[in-house]
Amino acid sequence: MRPYGGRDGAQVSEFTLPEPRRNWALFLDFDGTLAELAPHPDAVRIDPALPGLLETIFSELDGALAVVSGRRLSELDRHLRVRLPAAGVHGLELRERPGATIHPPAEALLIARLKARLTGFVAADNRLLLEEKPGALALHFRQAPDKAAECARLMEEATADLDGIHVLKGKMVLEAKPARVNKGYAIEAMMKEPPFIGRIPVFAGDDTTDEDGFRIVNALGGISIKIADGDTLARYRMDDVQGFINWLKHVASVLSP
Ligand SMILES: [Mg+2]
Repeated sequence: MRPYGGRDGAQVSEFTLPEPRRNWALFLDFDGTLAELAPHPDAVRIDPALPGLLETIFSELDGALAVVSGRRLSELDRHLRVRLPAAGVHGLELRERPGATIHPPAEALLIARLKARLTGFVAADNRLLLEEKPGALALHFRQAPDKAAECARLMEEATADLDGIHVLKGKMVLEAKPARVNKGYAIEAMMKEPPFIGRIPVFAGDDTTDEDGFRIVNALGGISIKIADGDTLARYRMDDVQGFINWLKHVASVLSP
C-alpha cells in the first residue's frame, strides 16, 4: 500500500524516509521546498492547503516547526499567511516562537558597534555611503576611488576586535557580516532553545545555501532531505515541491490520526 507518493505513481525516494515521530523538530526551507520557484520572488504561490498543514504539524510537534529561509520574516509571514517560528535572511533574523519578537543573532549585534566606528569617517566625505542591510553593513566608495586604500585600512582596524565579523571585498564596496551566520547556524541556535531542544532535527531544502543546514543536522544525528537534483550532503532526496508537500500531508496524518 502507498500511503503517499510522487506524481504519476512513480517510485520516489521519500519512501525510504523514517516514519514521522513526535520527537522531531522540523526545519523547512521556503522557496523550492514549500513553494515552487517563481520568476520573481513576489510572484510565488503556495498550495492553498499549506498554511493549515503547517499549523497542524506545528501543533502536533508542540511548536517545534520552523521555516528557515533567505527571505525576510515579514515576507515569509505574508506568503505563508500563518506565523511560525522562523529564521530569515539565512539566520540573521530569528524568531523561536510565533509571538516572539524578531531578533538578530548575537554576532549581528557587533555590526551595530562597527557602524558607530565608521559613521564619523563616512559623514566627513559625502561621496562615501554606509548601507545598512539586515545584519550586515556595506561601505561603498564607488564615488571616491581615491579613498579605496583608506577605506580598506579603516575597515580592517574597525573589525579587528569584533570576533566573528568577516569583511567581504566587492567592487568598490566592503561588506562586513557575521562569518558564521548561515542556515546551519540558525538551526543549531534554535536546537538549543525550547521547544526544539532535545528533539531530532529534520531539515528539508533545495539549494546550495541549505547545505550548511544539512551538515549541522547530519552532525546532530538528524534527517536531511534535499528537494530535486544536485550534489548534496543530505541523506534523503525528494523529486519536487509537490512530492514534498505530499510527504508533509503524510507527516500530519501520522502525527494527528
Ligand atoms: Mg530554497
